[in-house]
Amino acid sequence: MSACTGAGCPVWGRREIAHDLVELRQAAGLNQKQVSAALEVSLSKIIRMEGGWQRVKAADLTALLALYGVQDPAAVEAMRAKARAGRGRCLLDAHTALKSADTDFAAYEHAAAHTMTLAGGIIPVLLRTTDYARALATAIRIPPRVAEQTITLQHARQHWATAEGFTGLRREFLIEEATLLRLRPPYGPGQLQHLAQVARQGRWQVRVLPLGAVNPGLLTPFSVLRSPDRARALLVLGEEHASWKFEQDRGECEYHQQRYADLREHALTGEDSARLIERLDQEPLA
Ligand SMILES: [Zn+2]
Repeated sequence: MSACTGAGCPVWGRREIAHDLVELRQAAGLNQKQVSAALEVSLSKIIRMEGGWQRVKAADLTALLALYGVQDPAAVEAMRAKARAGRGRCLLDAHTALKSADTDFAAYEHAAAHTMTLAGGIIPVLLRTTDYARALATAIRIPPRVAEQTITLQHARQHWATAEGFTGLRREFLIEEATLLRLRPPYGPGQLQHLAQVARQGRWQVRVLPLGAVNPGLLTPFSVLRSPDRARALLVLGEEHASWKFEQDRGECEYHQQRYADLREHALTGEDSARLIERLDQEPLA
């Protein structure tokens, strides 16, 4: 089985048609159960297609469009083109049991050609150590079972982000120095070492915003993800699933991408960022 790679991943295409299918069904005044009964296909298949977790085959698409009353040839052809863009296998297909906003985000993230993440007060998932994640889960009182699921998904996201075929994708992170200053036990010096390593290695761009460089009040966390063909973007406001808000509006995405570029102007270089993180790691605790 061939794994998808950044440019070849069908997930972004599948999600586009999935989004349209939900809108069309709602416009037709039907719920998923009714569609399942009318087309004699399983409810789980409808849910998977509408969630972007399963490719929409030509025959299924024809039946769905007929049911929703879509007859305009141009509209039908546009939907067929979208279905074709969702062809192929994604390495996340084996993980459909994990269904949450987190997995949704992970699907977009793993194939994004370019991601820009402005961290808030915590370390972004792709850069976290397991110890840090556990300490964070305890601090925000996540039940142990949920915490373990979160950590499993963190490992998966880190694995996908560094898997063969994905290593040429651009990953950028901006982290405030104040956030690093809070990385004291139990969050662990291991986290600082890890960050410094990633920053120094240079495959991902990890940049530190030094204290006083930017008004912290302006640093509301967000991520901008660009699709494999870079034609589309997704904006995620917030950084933890509890408060996530997805936004696909082009203007909003561009605005935030520009904001990211502006903020990056105030950040230390990669080398200086690595040096600062290493210094913080070696400083005795205040
Ligand atoms: Zn994929």
